[in-house]
Amino acid sequence: MSDATVIPVPAHYLAAGTRNTADEYATRYAESIANPDAFWAKEAQVVDWMKPFTQVKDVSFNPEDLRIKWFADGELNVAANCLDRQLAKRGDKTAIIWEGDDPRESRHITYRELHAEVCKFANVLTAKGVKKGDRVTIYMPMIPEAAVAMLACTRIGAPHSVVFGGFSPDSLAGRIEDCGSTVVITADEGLRGSKAVPLKANVDNAIRTPAGSGVTTVIVVRRTGGSVNWDNKRDFWYHDLMTGASADHAAVAMNAEDPLFILYTSGSTGKPKGVLHTTGGYLVYVTSTFANMFDLREDDVFWCTADVGWVTGHSYLLYGPLANGATTVMFEGVPQYPDWSRIGKVVDKHHVSILYTAPTAIRALMREGDGPTLESSRKSLRLLGSVGEPINPEAWNWYHRVVGDSRCPIIDTWWQTETGGVLITPLPGAVDMKPGSASRPYFGIKPAILDNDGSLMKGVCEGNLVITDSWPGQMRSIYGDHKRFAETYFNVFPGVYTTGDGARRDADDYYWITGRVDDVLNVSGHRMGTAEVESALVSHVAVAEAAVVGFPHDIKGQGIFAYVTLQEGHEPSEELRKALVIHVRAEIGPIAAPDQIQWAPGLPKTRSGKIMRRILRKIAANEFDGLGDTSTLADPSVVDSLVQGRRAEA
Ligand code: ATP
Ligand code: MG
Repeated sequence: MSDATVIPVPAHYLAAGTRNTADEYATRYAESIANPDAFWAKEAQVVDWMKPFTQVKDVSFNPEDLRIKWFADGELNVAANCLDRQLAKRGDKTAIIWEGDDPRESRHITYRELHAEVCKFANVLTAKGVKKGDRVTIYMPMIPEAAVAMLACTRIGAPHSVVFGGFSPDSLAGRIEDCGSTVVITADEGLRGSKAVPLKANVDNAIRTPAGSGVTTVIVVRRTGGSVNWDNKRDFWYHDLMTGASADHAAVAMNAEDPLFILYTSGSTGKPKGVLHTTGGYLVYVTSTFANMFDLREDDVFWCTADVGWVTGHSYLLYGPLANGATTVMFEGVPQYPDWSRIGKVVDKHHVSILYTAPTAIRALMREGDGPTLESSRKSLRLLGSVGEPINPEAWNWYHRVVGDSRCPIIDTWWQTETGGVLITPLPGAVDMKPGSASRPYFGIKPAILDNDGSLMKGVCEGNLVITDSWPGQMRSIYGDHKRFAETYFNVFPGVYTTGDGARRDADDYYWITGRVDDVLNVSGHRMGTAEVESALVSHVAVAEAAVVGFPHDIKGQGIFAYVTLQEGHEPSEELRKALVIHVRAEIGPIAAPDQIQWAPGLPKTRSGKIMRRILRKIAANEFDGLGDTSTLADPSVVDSLVQGRRAEA
């Protein structure tokens, strides 16, 4: 992970002209820090205001007097920005390209069509008694109606809470109860990799629990036609309600600080938090970041592979693209169905020019070798993005060389559900790339690194990543628990926003996310992020994916325990084990050499594809009971197989 690896944005890319040159980035960044009010007052004009604001920023990060407000006396509507204001210029432009689970199924929906659907559904919701401020739970597959439901909620000012369709009835019920919603929008079934997901049955089961018992209305989209149970008083077919609905609807003027949505974080680190975002600041921030970081052009076809159940699906599949009048691809399926060539084939089919995906997907594709990806031409691509976890340089290089044909710049975008939008990313054309580094802050973002005592570290250093001032997209509270909000994010180091992530800053002022602070290794007094050791392992030709955690060690205090998934075609052996230790030693140094390596056919991941090191730590420590909440795991059986493997070795 040498700081010396700098990959400039290619000349052919620059020749086409970019939104930000290196000089413009430097100037605008300096302005945004020197005078945030002036900068954001101007930048806020990327959206249309129904009533202009006169105040810009009103913020205190003091935990005793926590206050985060942006554009507080302005009024606007998110759906009106995403739809109505696009009609004059882009009415017939495709807003959403929907690609079904079955490769033979796809649909184009224009801005005009989407606008009409959203207006109708806004009228439907109103007729069902949903008022401004009421929370609506959305538990849907990746179908256009999910976008319609979200936009209709914003149109009437009802905050939505989207729950990922892969969550269990209990997880769904917990989230319904936490935000107190009485209306749930769902589908009969979802479809992923040709398998049906029983969404309506899950909703029925959730409502049967005490936590879900407050639900009075369930609106069901018919997706597969599979059989479902029906309660005539409570359940309504979406298509029945839409038939008589009017397509005339005036978007409600919302105050900038009115709640827009609640979104529960994926839960990699514990009990899910209902992250609350508000209307004005959020929309300004995602509209601005989307255009600049993807260096947006009018004819782009943008594909974000995230589910709408995650923040990436909110900010950069839906709101950011539509508020900019872009064409966004919504994919119902999974990358491995019908086979691993699917991603490339979807790119070719829809002439995707920007692909935004996660390291977990890139590593999975890489594990299959170049073959499946090379079945497509991918010549429409001009820019690639990564989000969700640190991207190992090896995976970065593969993404660059194979998926992007060594032609496309990559933006490694660091952010969180809490931040609403991206805070650290190279802007294409303005910032040279370094594989594995999220690089430089976005306009208005003031990152800093603190040591564990809270002292500011200067120059080249590694420690706790914090943000010292607010930005418009920042979360405003944890729904129903403002105290927890203050304690979680503003008490650890008073006066700043604590991200919970570790970072290193290099001599060029580039930021390298080292992993979650809770996961930091402490070997003989040396503190190390997980990302660096994992990346060293992944850089070995036999390794597809790796996760490292600390475990109790008599002499060192903590030893390094590595779980390693091998590349297709490689087999576990004692020799390979030794070779990997030597490899890490050579890449980083003796201090980082793993003490133990366990072969892992798969790693425990959250539903959004992130490695859950909390569980791996327990297994490494031989604590097989009390593995904690595993309900948000994508595949809980992975844990059993790792426990068995560990028991066999111990
Ligand atoms: P929870 O907070 O409930 O544990 P989570 O942190 O996984 O869940 P998200 O908000 O989806 O929920 O993820 C944000 C986290 O993902 C960041 O704090 C960081 O650890 C990681 N992350 C996201 N993007 C990047 C990136 N480009 N590089 C490194 N890490 C990233
Ligand atoms: Mg988090």
